[in-house]
Amino acid sequence: MAASGEPGRPEEDEAALVVVVGSCMTDLVSLTSRLPKTGETIHGHKFFIGFGGKGANQCVQAARLGAKTSIVCKVGKDSFGNDYIENFRQNGISTEFTYQTEEAATGAASIIVNNEGQNIIVIVAGANLLLNSEDLKKAANVISRARVMICQLEISPATSLEALIMARRSGVKTLFNPAPAMADLDPKFYSLSSVFCCNESEAEILTDLVVGSPEEAGKAALVLLERGCQVVVITLGAAGCVTLSQMEPVPKHIPTEAVKAVDTTGAGDSFVGALAFYLAYYPNLSLEEMIKRANFIAAISVQSAGTQSSYPYKKDLPL
Ligand code: ADP
Repeated sequence: MAASGEPGRPEEDEAALVVVVGSCMTDLVSLTSRLPKTGETIHGHKFFIGFGGKGANQCVQAARLGAKTSIVCKVGKDSFGNDYIENFRQNGISTEFTYQTEEAATGAASIIVNNEGQNIIVIVAGANLLLNSEDLKKAANVISRARVMICQLEISPATSLEALIMARRSGVKTLFNPAPAMADLDPKFYSLSSVFCCNESEAEILTDLVVGSPEEAGKAALVLLERGCQVVVITLGAAGCVTLSQMEPVPKHIPTEAVKAVDTTGAGDSFVGALAFYLAYYPNLSLEEMIKRANFIAAISVQSAGTQSSYPYKKDLPL
C-alpha cells in the first residue's frame, strides 16, 4: 500500500497536496500564412482547440508528475467549460472546486499565428474573473490541507490575495507566479509568497530594471526579495534561472539543459507546476536541486508543440 502522500499513488480520502487557485482558458488557434489587416477576412490552413490558462497549465504539470492536485477555478456553463472539466479529470485533477457559472463564458484566448510564428491574441478572461471570496470559503478545507498552493494573476488579484492569505494562515507554502505582471502589484503579494517565481519580462515590469542576463536577473531578484518574499526565482528561458532566498541572499544561476526548442509556449507554467510538485513531495531536497529538476521538466516541454500537450508525465522521465 502506498505511503500517505507518495506521488502517483493517490488514495480516495487523501488530501490534495498541490492546490491551484487560478485560471483556465480555452485556446482557439488559427494558423494562417499572414496576419489579417483590419476589416479583412482571410483563409487559414489549420485550426485547433487547446487547453490553456496559467492556473490550469501549472496544475496539469504537477498532476502529470504524480502530485495529488485540486484546482479551484471557474468556467462557464458551456461546452468549453464542460470540456475543460473533462480535461482535468483525464489528468487526475480533483474538480470538486471547479465552479461553473451561467453569468460568463469560459475564458478564451483567440490566437492567430502566421508562418513566421508571429501572433495576435485576444484574451477574454470571462468566468475566471468571477471566482470570488465565497468560492474560496467553500474550498477552505482543501486549501488548508495542501502542502503547496499556487496562484497567478489571471483571476481577480483580490481573489488571489485572499487565497494566499488563507494558505499562509494554515501554514501552507505559497508559490506565487505574478503573471501577467502588473507594475503596481499590491506589496502584500511579496510578503505572502513563500516562493515568488516570475520570468525575465515580468521581473522587468516589477522592478523597472533591465533583466537580460543572469547577473541582471540576480539584481532584480534581490529587489524582489527585499520586498518580503522568502524565495525568489526568475526564469530566463534557455538560460535556466536565477534564485536567492532570505536564508541565502546571494543570487545563484542555475543553467538548464541545452535542447532544441520547438515551441516554448507554456514553458514557464511547466516549470512552476514542476517546482510545486518537488516542494510538496520532496521537501527535503535543496532549493537548488528542486530548481534543477524543474528546469529539466520545462526543457522537455519545449521540445514538442503545444502547451499542455507538451508536458511530460512521470513515466517519461529517466529513473
Ligand atoms: P515563460 O514561459 O514564462 O516565458 P521562460 O521562457 O523563462 O518562461 O521558461 C521557463 C523555463 O523553461 C526556463 O527556466 C527553463 O527551465 C525552460 N526553458 C524555456 N526555454 C527553454 C529552452 N529554449 N531550452 C531549455 N529550457 C527552456
